[in-house]
Amino acid sequence: MSKQLILALSKGRILDETLPLLAAAGITPAEDLGKSRKLLFDTNLANVKLVIIRATDVPTYVQLGAADLGVAGKDVLLEHGAEGLYEPLDLEIARCKLMTAGIDGAEPARARRRVATKFVNVARRYYAEQGIQAEVIKLYGAMELAPLMNLADEIVDIVDTGNTLRANGMSPRELIAPISTRLVVNKAAMTMKHAQLKPLIARLTDAVGKRRASESAISP
Ligand code: AMP
Repeated sequence: MSKQLILALSKGRILDETLPLLAAAGITPAEDLGKSRKLLFDTNLANVKLVIIRATDVPTYVQLGAADLGVAGKDVLLEHGAEGLYEPLDLEIARCKLMTAGIDGAEPARARRRVATKFVNVARRYYAEQGIQAEVIKLYGAMELAPLMNLADEIVDIVDTGNTLRANGMSPRELIAPISTRLVVNKAAMTMKHAQLKPLIARLTDAVGKRRASESAISP
């Protein structure tokens, strides 16, 4: 196994919050990520490269060892399953909640509930644990539309401010899991590349701690 470290980052919303944390931990991309269509980047550290990929692909890259470590939302990790991955650090960014939601005022009355979501594994597990019979329908976006169009009785989705739900006449029902962004590490790499990974994880842990301290100093 090469001693080069590949760090997989989730594109989009999480990336904007991840980069300042990486910078605080002493890792900066060698070029402006926003200005490039490249997917593989050098950094200021000779032994660290970045790949920028879809959030849902990060666990797969890390699990299979194509990347040694990665940054992914807990929602994505719960859906993917944690096999082959360590999750040594909560980066405490992109916080939100995975929730069930339905049309305002409507009771989830059906004996067999129809649930639209992109988190089909999470949803199946959740309803089974609750002893609720559910038919889980996979959608790839605009979950809020499903109850309005009578495709589903309920959705399982990410809720941050709740504005998206409110704008569509829906409200949150049950909390499934609080979500934040996590650092994940390939299990074999954790052993084989321990000397490279340990200081990197330590610097990231330190950066998270410092950011938490500065935030609590601003809003006690
Ligand atoms: P909101 O209207 O603020 O409740 O945001 C809800 C929508 O924003 C959801 O449908 C999600 O797709 C997206 N969203 C909000 N926060 C996150 C996050 N931390 N990670 C991924 N998606 C998010």
